[in-house]
Amino acid sequence: MTLEAVFFDVDGTIAETERGGHRVAYNAAFQELGYPVHWDPELYGKLLDVMGGKERIRFYWSQHPELPALSDAQVEQIHDVKAAHFRELVNEGRLELRIGVKRLLDELASRRVPISIASTITFEGLDALLRKGLGDDWQDRFQYLGIGDVVPVKKPDPGIYLWLLERHGVDARDVVTLEDTRAGLLASVGAGIPTLITPSDYTKDQDFSEAACVASSLGDPGAPAHWRLSSGAEGSGLIDVGFLEKLVSG
Ligand SMILES: [Mg+2]
Repeated sequence: MTLEAVFFDVDGTIAETERGGHRVAYNAAFQELGYPVHWDPELYGKLLDVMGGKERIRFYWSQHPELPALSDAQVEQIHDVKAAHFRELVNEGRLELRIGVKRLLDELASRRVPISIASTITFEGLDALLRKGLGDDWQDRFQYLGIGDVVPVKKPDPGIYLWLLERHGVDARDVVTLEDTRAGLLASVGAGIPTLITPSDYTKDQDFSEAACVASSLGDPGAPAHWRLSSGAEGSGLIDVGFLEKLVSG
């Protein structure tokens, strides 16, 4: 088997966007729009179990009947204002790519391995993040952007990964997904794809027992990753294309 494609989650996987990014942006949006809501880091960690921004807002409101009910338009408004604040945070340089992400993307491009994105992030948020991290031509690197509401049901449903597999026309066993959360892992393995997990700030204690590999990061020269395979084998170094090829053939 050969490595036919690599699918990347964004939030937590490509960059640590949650605590200092999306959370801060939600709070700025609540304040700007006059809602008496503030999500502290601990609460936000729990809210991350709800995948998708609009879904997260609706869930929080459903748990707080003292808040005035939100119309769909108001949910969209919060989401849009939050997205603008997120772009500002990125443009201020507050959110950088995680260790090894640029190196691996460069290597995948030079080996002509197709790459796609699987995330609920908005195009505007992704554009800000990757323009800053990869340059103005970042879109040329990716075959498909499986983002936003492209599929109606969010992770842990495998829908987004099934959508990408169909577009790429490849066998799930010849693909590797990079994720950082249990919900993302379940979505990916639910589609039959070997999955490499790089746990993020909020997900270090989650159960990743279905993962093909769990690694501290992707690793860079001078900052090696520590990894553990599902077989129990451990090691350290760089997660490179050769490493991913072993995950599809193993
Ligand atoms: Mg994630």
